[in-house]
Amino acid sequence: MTPKRHAIDVPVFAVGVTLLVLGSLASVAAFVARPVAKWIDAASAATQPLSFTYLLVFLAFFGVIGSVFSAAAMVVRMLPFGRVRQVYRRPYPAVQRRTELISAPIILLFDAAFVIAVVFSAALRFELFAGFGATVAVIAVLYAWFEVWFYVTHRLIHTRPLWFIHKHHHVSSVPHPLTALSFSLSERAIYDLGISLGAAAVSWFRPVPVVSLLAFLTVTYLFNALVHCNFEVVPAWLVRSPAGKILGSVSFHAMHHARGRNHYGFTSSVLDYAFGTVWPDYARVHARAVGGHGLRALSERVEDADGYVAAAYSGQRAQ
Ligand SMILES: [Zn+2]
Ligand SMILES: [Zn+2]
Repeated sequence: MTPKRHAIDVPVFAVGVTLLVLGSLASVAAFVARPVAKWIDAASAATQPLSFTYLLVFLAFFGVIGSVFSAAAMVVRMLPFGRVRQVYRRPYPAVQRRTELISAPIILLFDAAFVIAVVFSAALRFELFAGFGATVAVIAVLYAWFEVWFYVTHRLIHTRPLWFIHKHHHVSSVPHPLTALSFSLSERAIYDLGISLGAAAVSWFRPVPVVSLLAFLTVTYLFNALVHCNFEVVPAWLVRSPAGKILGSVSFHAMHHARGRNHYGFTSSVLDYAFGTVWPDYARVHARAVGGHGLRALSERVEDADGYVAAAYSGQRAQ
């Protein structure tokens, strides 16, 4: 086999391009937004304790947080930990890389625009911070609500009439950290709407702490990058314990991408267990990834009587 000429290290290249594009877009957006922000400040001064400063904070927040988690996952997947624990050991097609690279900056800007619109619309009541207990409680409420919203809407967009909304995300048969930012705008709007409805429900009872909203979004970005990173970070004992019936894992969502159905939850498996949408070989696929023997084919199933799956379970490296 003839050696190939210098191949570009695509993950590193992807991080560089994404950050560059985001930086440029954020600069342009900040410049363009100045007169708009003045107008928003004047229009919302009576109802909102937020200003142009917050607008910039939101833009920077999504640009930095959104790209940092995916970038970190991209770095870890090149380290021994990430390489050994790959869930699916397959190359990424060019069309997937292209789709994800184009999507990432668009989705980050879309999220920023959506949250800015909600916060500045004066439709909900916000306050900056509400004390530790209330702030954490609101994060928990938003998180639990979003898991339910995600499971239900994700199952719906897997039906034939609505598949056009979701097929963009499934261009990625094997997830990559950038898959976390690869959605159609209609699908992203559904998730952002869900978050807004959760915030609206909280606002009915009490002002939503902006700190809670940003912390919730940060956690969501982090877990989104994690479930798409394609190297397993959740230990096998946890998946086999009762907590495994509540928590999801990287393999859990990777199987959804590879097989195209079941495992509709975001970071939790609890609704999938409740509604019977868990693949029977989930724990065995997970053990293969942890044991350093990720799957090679998208259609591969891991059978019960597989000797080396048992070896992976016991914590030894499989043969
Ligand atoms: Zn899906
Ligand atoms: Zn996904």
